[in-house]
Amino acid sequence: MIILRLVLATNNEGKVRELQDMLGTQDFEVVSLKEYPSIPEVEEDGATFKENAVKKAREISAAVGEWTMADDSGLEVDYLGGAPGVHSARFAGEHGDNEANNKRLLELLEGVPFENRTARFRCVVAVASPGGDVKTAEGSCEGIITGDPRGDEGFGYDPLFYSPEHGKTFAELDRETKNASSHRGRALRGARDFLKSINEK
Ligand code: IMP
Repeated sequence: MIILRLVLATNNEGKVRELQDMLGTQDFEVVSLKEYPSIPEVEEDGATFKENAVKKAREISAAVGEWTMADDSGLEVDYLGGAPGVHSARFAGEHGDNEANNKRLLELLEGVPFENRTARFRCVVAVASPGGDVKTAEGSCEGIITGDPRGDEGFGYDPLFYSPEHGKTFAELDRETKNASSHRGRALRGARDFLKSINEK
């Protein structure tokens, strides 16, 4: 079997490791954008997770001329009409300020009863071929935004995301348990099945 080399459209080494774990080293070689330092960053200005993931995968694959995988994800809160959605990383203004994002979310939900705090994480993974064809896989998981943040694992909104399935917040789950039911885990498994089918051709 040929080992498929796959460029991951991220500089985040944590994401690269997670992906390599899930894809398995015997079939795939995963490399990050660190190997391509001259590639400019792709602006995530799409209206949906899918638009952003497809845009990143297509632009990076065109630039490096190899199979490329990109993901885009975020949180949708029903009471807020689906916000923060594609703005999840910069909900409070500055990109990636998790503490400020969580604080803003709690403020907006102050006084809202538990049953009206339903939410979900969504993730779209896009895989682009060197010729520019793109396939996507999606995953989501349901939860409730707790007013009582708990846990030190994970990142982002995890301490506020209570999973009824586990009776815990995502930040109270170990990595393996979170991956088994998370939006990203589900989307990645869909993409892995597609990639394996290419490898087997
Ligand atoms: P990105 O897909 O890396 O751009 O992530 C977008 C943003 O969504 C992150 O910065 C987090 O705020 C949020 N997010 C996405 N996935 C998760 C997760 O698994 N846990 C907590 N927050 C997440």
